[in-house]
Amino acid sequence: MVQDIRIQKTFEALFALEDIREIFREALPTGLDETEDREFMKKVSELKEIISELESGKGNVKVSRLAGNLPIRDKEESFINIQPIQAAGRLTVEARKALIAYGDGYSTCDSCKKPFRLDKITKPGIADFHTELAEFLNMDEARVVPGARRGFQAVASSLVEKGDIAIVSALSHYTEFLSVENAGGIVKEVPLNENNVITAEATAEKIEAVIRETGKVPKIVMMDHFDYLFANEHEIKEIAKVSHQYDIPLLYNGAYTVGVMPVDGKALGADFVVGSGHKSMASVAPSGVLATTEEWAPVVFRTTQMKGDLTARKFGIKEVEMLGCTLMGGTLFSMMASFPAVQERVKHWDEEVNKSNYLVDKILSISGSRVLSEYPRKHALTKIDTTDSFDTVAKTHPKRGYYLHDELSKRGITGVFPGATKAWKLSTYGLSWPKVRYLADSFAEIAEKYGLEVRENGE
Ligand SMILES: *Cc1c(COP(=O)(O)O)cnc(C)c1O
Repeated sequence: MVQDIRIQKTFEALFALEDIREIFREALPTGLDETEDREFMKKVSELKEIISELESGKGNVKVSRLAGNLPIRDKEESFINIQPIQAAGRLTVEARKALIAYGDGYSTCDSCKKPFRLDKITKPGIADFHTELAEFLNMDEARVVPGARRGFQAVASSLVEKGDIAIVSALSHYTEFLSVENAGGIVKEVPLNENNVITAEATAEKIEAVIRETGKVPKIVMMDHFDYLFANEHEIKEIAKVSHQYDIPLLYNGAYTVGVMPVDGKALGADFVVGSGHKSMASVAPSGVLATTEEWAPVVFRTTQMKGDLTARKFGIKEVEMLGCTLMGGTLFSMMASFPAVQERVKHWDEEVNKSNYLVDKILSISGSRVLSEYPRKHALTKIDTTDSFDTVAKTHPKRGYYLHDELSKRGITGVFPGATKAWKLSTYGLSWPKVRYLADSFAEIAEKYGLEVRENGE
């Protein structure tokens, strides 16, 4: 795959503009002096040259690394990226612009006034954004957090004390384990059924067993709506109901749902809804959301009660679990800039699922391929098993398992783990139909090239 030089030149033009911007940052507010003016003119003419190379599609690579060691990342420009954790975290163009404008450290804090808390800032509309986030999830209160994991941590740290039990799924994410461990608690896992799904019945049985064996009622049930391994849908609504029968609050882990599909916290019966900004809300990392109900807000968003023994200082309405303020710059503004697009895109989840099924069907038409996730797919992420298709080629190929990665790279496809030909994951999230068809055709083409049988399945 030949990388289009115009992509390279686009980066160079962006960098050249930043160099120009830097001149203004260095200058006195009264304007550029003579030297700066000369520098400015020089940089502008360099930019013009880059623009003309951009136009003609000719030229050499002038910038290959930033600060001597950071290569330019052109994965999203030069490739179709099917890496599942990256698909829905790709920034919108508005988020990228926001990052340019608000990348400086504490850029949220320009107009921070008493009572000095991030979610109270009205200029720009950070307070409104918090209100809208809560509405978006149909919950009462929301805070932005540095990743879904920090949402779990805030909840676990508020509800779980030493030796307390948290119920999680046998497919729970490691960060759920760690958040409980961090609070001094113990996880107990609900087993999967034969279809790799967590049922409400299994959850009830686990809660019963824990109560029987330990004499303790679990403090929280943390459950993934779609898990990270198969992206199977678990019985989240029914699990919430079961949890409530034991008076246990439910944390809805929406790392793979909030920001890609509609999530109605109240309808699901969630006491806490956690989402990941960088995984599913087209935002800069680390970002995420923790939303809760009126009932639980005073617990998880409790304010500081501490008083300094010497100075008698108190810090008013700062929230303990948030450590005061959370996303103070480009992370938050990228979330805010992407939010209108995110609100819109969740309405088109069905179409994303259609794309997912289209590609999976094509892969299944390659003889020997299997899908390990539930099928038909209800999510854009899928785990497939190509042990009896692509991996049979790896056995004799001089490059072994790496051949598939190479063949995909040649076709401008990235995001498959190098060497993986057995069980691996992919996501079609956010890809246009032409890209999805291109992907499907590429897999079929590679299969045919290596003599694997590709069935015509009514396409
Ligand atoms: C990715 C993921 C997380 C962690 O999200 P962060 O925002 O990176 O903390 C948690 N749970 C599940 C199910 C995930 O897939």
